[in-house]
Amino acid sequence: MKDKKVFILGMARSGYEAAKLLSKNNTVFITDMKEQDEKQVKELEELGVKLVICDDPVDYLDDSYDLLVKNPGIKYNHKTVLKARELGIDVINEVELAYYYINKDINIIGVTGSNGKTTTVTLIYKFLEKDGKKVCLGGNIGYPLCSLVEDLKNYDYLALEISDHQLCDMYKFKTNVSVLTNIVPAHLDFHDSFERYKEMKKRIFNNMTSKDIGIINYDNNEAMSLTRDIGCTKYYFSRKDKTKAYMHDNAIYYEGEKIIDCRYIKLRGVHNYENIMAAICAVKVYGVSSDSIRDVLLEFGGVEHRIEYVDTIDGVEYYNDSKATNCEATKTALNSFDNPVLLIMGGLDRGNPFDELDEAIKNVSYVACYGETKAKIKEYCNERGISCGVFDTLKEATISCYEKSTLGDVVLLSPACASWDQYKNFEDRGNEYKEIVNSLRGNE
Ligand code: ADP
Repeated sequence: MKDKKVFILGMARSGYEAAKLLSKNNTVFITDMKEQDEKQVKELEELGVKLVICDDPVDYLDDSYDLLVKNPGIKYNHKTVLKARELGIDVINEVELAYYYINKDINIIGVTGSNGKTTTVTLIYKFLEKDGKKVCLGGNIGYPLCSLVEDLKNYDYLALEISDHQLCDMYKFKTNVSVLTNIVPAHLDFHDSFERYKEMKKRIFNNMTSKDIGIINYDNNEAMSLTRDIGCTKYYFSRKDKTKAYMHDNAIYYEGEKIIDCRYIKLRGVHNYENIMAAICAVKVYGVSSDSIRDVLLEFGGVEHRIEYVDTIDGVEYYNDSKATNCEATKTALNSFDNPVLLIMGGLDRGNPFDELDEAIKNVSYVACYGETKAKIKEYCNERGISCGVFDTLKEATISCYEKSTLGDVVLLSPACASWDQYKNFEDRGNEYKEIVNSLRGNE
């Protein structure tokens, strides 16, 4: 990319990184609706980037531009995007842009899917790293690819999380290995239809040939029918059928070799067995040893805030699942434990009912609720005869679980609600929970 005139629509982290990368030898214009971080604005201005904050940037775009880089969160039918298409200006996103700069010798392993992306890409990264490979982790997981371009020269592998929003504007981008964890209806407001959402997910297999590997969930009908005609070699994983990676007698196998007994896996939940099998398929392409895989599975307690193991105090295990902002996720977490669970729930009230938890909550001996939804949760528990304590704060709720728990119990923060009534985001909520648990250790 040289001597081009580029219009960046939407700043955030990825727009900022794209602007920085492009500014070296291109003319860059960037716009956003919201005021941006002062330090970043100053830095971009010093690099010669022109920044405009406004609600409707459409009039700034004209046919003098060569390229539009769109933030993945902006819809495909945004006025400025439509105008770019009318003017014949290519519309891409930050990952596609970074791809132009990346040395094509690097092995790119892309991960997408409705659920399990972050966990699977993290496992892939850890397996490769444990095996002594030079691997870099990036993408949707929080490190925009444009920020890694320089660094990537020192690596042989890139483990890249890619969202469906990002796949919308990718054309030349190509991976060597692609993982599709699963497909369930999601983000339908963004894509306007399930069909369009699926078509976007399919793009992770774009430009692949038979030398490349696509890893697909054999148990997921949507993923199977969508990938029927893709051009790569397919590896399947399944909890039910004997495929490339599969489960048998509560153990995980790859090509007939027993990799690990599930009881030794530190990650909780059968959904994670799927993520593990997908990750094993990906790294076996590069000859990672079963010992390296086993070592990671014995010690890796989960990605932060996703059924993350925190500590064991007085024989009670504490888990942080702050990422569970809806009933579906809390249900998944509850189904991950056989031991009695003391559940901490609550947060922002979106008006949703909690009935979806009915089956999974049977294993819960006590609910401690707090936040905006506390009265609703109390009512839900009362109707079902579940013991429930009502509190104002997460701290009080956690302490009550500490006091009520006995040897062998699990205390789980899996709130089934968004955090915004009391926290900036689910990460802040999860971090505070971990601090509270750490302070309980002092009471022993
Ligand atoms: P993503 O990055 O796709 O959001 P994560 O790995 O961050 O996925 O997991 C987020 C949540 O999604 C988990 O806490 C769990 O509730 C659910 N989840 C993870 N993996 C799977 C899976 N393979 N199938 C179904 N649900 C899953």
